[in-house]
Amino acid sequence: MQLPERLFVDGGWKDAAGGRRLSLVNPATEETFVDVAAADVADVGAAVESAQRAWESGWRDLAPAKREALLHAVARKLREHQEEIAQLERLHIGKPIADARDEAGLGARVFEFYAGAVTKFGGQTLPVGRGGFDFTLRQSMGVVAAIVPWNFPFPIACWKAAPALAAGNCVILKPASLSPLTALKLGQLAHEAGLPPGVLQVLPGSGSTIGDALVTHPLVRKVSFTGSTEVGRRIMELASRDIKRISLELGGKSPNIVFADADWQRAAESSPMSVFANTGQDCCARSRMFVERSVFEGFVERFVAATRKLIVGDPAKDETQLGPLVSAGQRESVEGFLNDAKVRGTRFLCGGVRPASKGFFLEPTVLLDVKPTERCWREEIFGPVVAITPFDDEATMLREVNDTPYGLSGSVWTSNLSRALRVARAVQSGVLSINSHSSVHVEAPFGGFKQSGLGRDLGMAAMEGYTELKNVYVGE
Ligand code: NAD
Repeated sequence: MQLPERLFVDGGWKDAAGGRRLSLVNPATEETFVDVAAADVADVGAAVESAQRAWESGWRDLAPAKREALLHAVARKLREHQEEIAQLERLHIGKPIADARDEAGLGARVFEFYAGAVTKFGGQTLPVGRGGFDFTLRQSMGVVAAIVPWNFPFPIACWKAAPALAAGNCVILKPASLSPLTALKLGQLAHEAGLPPGVLQVLPGSGSTIGDALVTHPLVRKVSFTGSTEVGRRIMELASRDIKRISLELGGKSPNIVFADADWQRAAESSPMSVFANTGQDCCARSRMFVERSVFEGFVERFVAATRKLIVGDPAKDETQLGPLVSAGQRESVEGFLNDAKVRGTRFLCGGVRPASKGFFLEPTVLLDVKPTERCWREEIFGPVVAITPFDDEATMLREVNDTPYGLSGSVWTSNLSRALRVARAVQSGVLSINSHSSVHVEAPFGGFKQSGLGRDLGMAAMEGYTELKNVYVGE
């Protein structure tokens, strides 16, 4: 398998202007396996100019049916290369291969969805008071910068690039330093599928080196960001200078609420993967669990038993459910939370230790007696750690659920329909699942309340977010 090692700019592979490289370490073996070119500020300028040229010289005015066909061609390419994409994802971030295959398929599905959307998306005619004729246009913006994190590198790259392209924009994709390979592959495959040079470019590089240049470039009309709340806040500040459009998908500290009237046994069996999947490096991780007291003991027993059965290990094996954390630094960060919990006398029901094998592994960890003021309860850990607490009444529990700056995701388990709907309304989050842990659907909007973000990915909401809305009035 050939590893992409250079920037993908203006329809081809290019070396970085400053000659910098990113050394990628396989998190499962701790071995460095490739050096990838890291973009400099000069590369940002060149890529933005190429994107602007591509937009002005044809992409923005391409007949919708042609754009639809091109995006379908990209989807087909992604499906043909699904295994290769999955293996690249496994190598750079240690994602278990079964998950990586699913996510490669999800990326292709995202392109299919937005290919179909191109010819079904437009403005409205409006019955305005003056008579005459009034209609709205959804117009492309120009150059969009898509900045993505390392935890779901390929699907998030697709779910930003595809709607932005479908709406007629050109995209500069900046993957995280730890995970440039699948984004580069996307750029290459999209070009092979027929996207003209400059329409989709990929600039690996460190956020601290090129982030500001990308966000503040006057020709970049929108920044679509997924990552930490801290970097999101910085992007929002920078974007305010020229009122740049932004969408932000940020951190989370999501609840999993289990009522005694639920099929709580099923909830207990399925809930470990709602927080430990992707080794807990998931913005939607249900890391705070609220369980009604009358079933608390039985629930916790089953939950811990199900957690102990999870297969942690080599991401290359089909049966592996949890791989390593993405880096030594990420594991140390998670262990910092666990050390804080230990000092405070928190009960560890399982996990919290490194297995003997090489790689940045950490056993999934279940905590009890975490106080609402403690770090493990309040902050996003981004590792395989859950805190479980009992509750007695719905109103108090909901106050505690919403007592967080975040509001991304969550689950509620109950067999009482009225309660399910009441709680679904009350939880302050952008997405919520009832008797399920599923948060992401290509067809539905995804994003956060409060400090979990601004704007939406996926669904038609994302496509709207990559357009300007113009109103045109025609006098009588
Ligand atoms: P991060 O914020 O460190 O990095 C995200 C991206 O931003 C990377 O590409 C990084 O290189 C870039 N970046 C860093 N500094 C920058 C700057 N000054 N200007 C511009 N870009 C900059 O996040 P991460 O560690 O890669 O990912 C983990 C975080 O992402 C978690 O907080 C997680 O909750 C969040 N996340 C959110 C969602 C969501 O949809 N809400 C999805 C996945 C991850």
